[in-house]
Amino acid sequence: MGRNFFVGGNWKCNGITEEVKKIVNVLNAAADVPPKEKLEVVISPPFVFLPHVKSSLRQDFSLAAQNAWVRKGGAFTGEISAEMLVDLGIPWVILGHSERRLLLKESNEFVAEKVAYALSQGLKVIVCIGETLEQRESGQALIVVAEQLKAISGKVSDWGNIVLAYEPVWAIGTGKVATPAQAQEVHADLRKWLKSHINPKVAETVRIIYGGSVTSANCIELAGQPDVDGFLVGGASLKPEFIDILKASL
Ligand code: PEP
Repeated sequence: MGRNFFVGGNWKCNGITEEVKKIVNVLNAAADVPPKEKLEVVISPPFVFLPHVKSSLRQDFSLAAQNAWVRKGGAFTGEISAEMLVDLGIPWVILGHSERRLLLKESNEFVAEKVAYALSQGLKVIVCIGETLEQRESGQALIVVAEQLKAISGKVSDWGNIVLAYEPVWAIGTGKVATPAQAQEVHADLRKWLKSHINPKVAETVRIIYGGSVTSANCIELAGQPDVDGFLVGGASLKPEFIDILKASL
């Protein structure tokens, strides 16, 4: 199958310098983490801590920004451009997180434009997609994620630098994790969609990771699903249990 397991730690808008130093120390001290060839670890601190974490984090872990502006930088107060991230040596960016889609009204089209621009600048992208509870309960989950994917596929031709994060909104930060079967069902459907709308190679190679209340208690069963290629972890990435999640694929 050849899809390298991928675990992202999304710190969101959390932490001040002392806390950031402590988390980095815990990550740096972690032993028996699978080697890079088996596990890709990408840590995503808030923008302001990226330079500090870059200079202090172990070399086998990589970094992601939590957002990037939709096009070239300029008169866009408060935004951070893809060019700046590239300049800092940050290889990854998270785009389309549900908190931004819902709270900041980022549409499918806008997210797709961001993905295309970030890729064009040489960034690798973790693209988040997922349905709300209301959409799931009305049987719309697969339709919603397919629409989110369709918008991206309309703007992107090379999927080599994309990781798809399926993050059901009802599972994010709620403690209500998707069951392994629920996650597998959507991941398998996403792969089917990629096969029929892009091509079989992309379907086979794109990593589809799960996010939403992943903890050390539920990660092993989730990791055992054939189409779950890793996790995007929010709350638990700020805690020492993140190290156990890194070992879920062992
Ligand atoms: C996230 O923010 O991407 C996420 C999955 O959060 P949590 O793990 O806290 O649900």
